[in-house]
Amino acid sequence: MTSSLLKQHSLKKEALAGRLSGAGTGAGALSLRKRTSSNLFRYAPRTRARRRLDLSAFNKVLNVDAAARTVDVEGLATFESLVDHTLPHGLVPLITPELKHITVGGAIVGIGIESNCFRHGFVHDGLAEADVLLGDGRVVTCASAGEHAELYRALPNSYGTLGYVLRARMRLMPARRHVHLHTTRFRDMEAFLDAMRAATETPGVDFVEGLFYSADRLYLTVSRFVDDAPRVDDILRDHVFYRLVEEREDVYLTTKDYLFRYDPEWFWNLPDTTGYRLFRRYAPRAMRNSGFYKRYVDTKNRWLRRAGADTEGGEEPLIQDWEVPWEHARELTRFALEEVDLRGKPWIVTPIRTPATPTIYPIRANTLYYNLGCYCQVKKRPDKGDYYYTRIMDEKCFALDGIKMLYSSTFLSQPEFEHRYNGEGYRRLKTRYDPQGAFPALYEKCVLRH
Ligand SMILES: Cc1cc2nc3c(=O)[nH]c(=O)nc-3n(C[C@H](O)[C@H](O)[C@H](O)COP(=O)(O)OP(=O)(O)OC[C@H]3O[C@@H](n4cnc5c(N)ncnc54)[C@H](O)[C@@H]3O)c2cc1C
Repeated sequence: MTSSLLKQHSLKKEALAGRLSGAGTGAGALSLRKRTSSNLFRYAPRTRARRRLDLSAFNKVLNVDAAARTVDVEGLATFESLVDHTLPHGLVPLITPELKHITVGGAIVGIGIESNCFRHGFVHDGLAEADVLLGDGRVVTCASAGEHAELYRALPNSYGTLGYVLRARMRLMPARRHVHLHTTRFRDMEAFLDAMRAATETPGVDFVEGLFYSADRLYLTVSRFVDDAPRVDDILRDHVFYRLVEEREDVYLTTKDYLFRYDPEWFWNLPDTTGYRLFRRYAPRAMRNSGFYKRYVDTKNRWLRRAGADTEGGEEPLIQDWEVPWEHARELTRFALEEVDLRGKPWIVTPIRTPATPTIYPIRANTLYYNLGCYCQVKKRPDKGDYYYTRIMDEKCFALDGIKMLYSSTFLSQPEFEHRYNGEGYRRLKTRYDPQGAFPALYEKCVLRH
């Protein structure tokens, strides 16, 4: 670490501990304040006000140790700033979430994924150690061994309910300057899934991802790091990434553009209208990112609600990720295509294999899973009640021995939730690390939205 950054980091930590200790928190009173936009997407607003703890100053990359292939980074640093610091060393995090403003701490506690999860597991699998701020103001360092190994194993899926990550040491991997993406269109689901699985076992493949629209329109993109590219495609101004891979078999991106390839369009949520085509071409870079869009949409909706206007227009979000063991990939895909209408927007899939089972995200280790994601608005089904598609997809995922991430909305009863997410193990950890209940409990935070 450079000495001045290290000094500032220590001073910030001391000031925080002082602010928290004896501050009379309790009853789940604390929540996090930060400057970057949140990537939580819970459908309903919070039901309780909380005392907000401002951690936004913990957003620096402290030190890249190129020889050890690790980086020390503060918990609220964004993945974009992390990659900007590591790429000049020819290194990138093992897993980099696709949106630039997702933070290191948010992705560790919220199950971060990418198209190379089949090789490296989730974001948290790249965590070597973390300093965690507990509700009583203590900061403890946890790693896979040692006094706080239990906390280390319970951070994934804890969503800040056990403590806040102030510093993380993340493992890095070598990267080259460009990524070559090769896309194949399939007209048969079985062949698409077989090819995707085979790609995870092919030497030299770095990234594997699929987009599909129907049982006979499926695109598999298999990508590799390369030093030299015959051209570099522009996905900020000239092309819309997800359309480009459907149009061209071979696409070449800079490594940074590849890692954040869905950021300029917020996946596929910028409309394809004349106005937005002009926006794509001429808007300043500062506006061509998902953080800006999220803030814009949130602000617009707040004003519309204040004016008594309808912000929904008969639509509701379907923003979720589900994971099932690979042998159920076909059934989950069939179900999604037959039962859910995305109105022309794609489903996105990627294979995942994690080396370890986190305490409160009980996915099986060393087992290939199929992650199916959906990030768009859908038409409400008034005959079926609110969030019908979310509910049926959740049910199907659980029936297929799968699990889903909690960054969005979940409708499980508490007993069912505890059964799925190891409620017993979580309670033990909560008693050890947050006995006063300074932070809300997981079910209250992620399901009840207290
Ligand atoms: C549209 C959409 C697309 C997404 N795409 C991807 C993707 O491509 N890849 C991917 O990996 N994930 C993706 N996610 C999921 C995302 O990684 C998680 O929602 C993650 O938790 C967001 O982190 P954040 O930094 O934005 O934190 P926030 O959204 O601000 O916070 C998330 C939760 O983590 C807690 N938290 C935040 N920082 C800390 C910290 N330092 N210590 C402890 N707790 C903390 C907060 O209290 C909150 O409960 C997506 C989510 C959405 C809604």
